[in-house]
Amino acid sequence: MTASELEAKTVTWVQRYQGQWYVIENLPPMVCKQCAETYFTPDAYDRVVELITSGTPPARMETVAVYDAASCG
Ligand SMILES: [Zn+2]
Repeated sequence: MTASELEAKTVTWVQRYQGQWYVIENLPPMVCKQCAETYFTPDAYDRVVELITSGTPPARMETVAVYDAASCG
């Protein structure tokens, strides 16, 4: 992977923080064009933690369905 393979592209990022799930939309990480792997810059991660910890009101609330695969069947 080289720097030229990377392009800025916003994604929706899901982060678990202190036992709760947080969804961060329109986050600009770097995505490799060849393997589509997401590489987060330190700046992007700082932004995620800042949003979660700063008390910023969320854009909206969503209910998340949680399943236990061990209880299936
Ligand atoms: Zn790659």
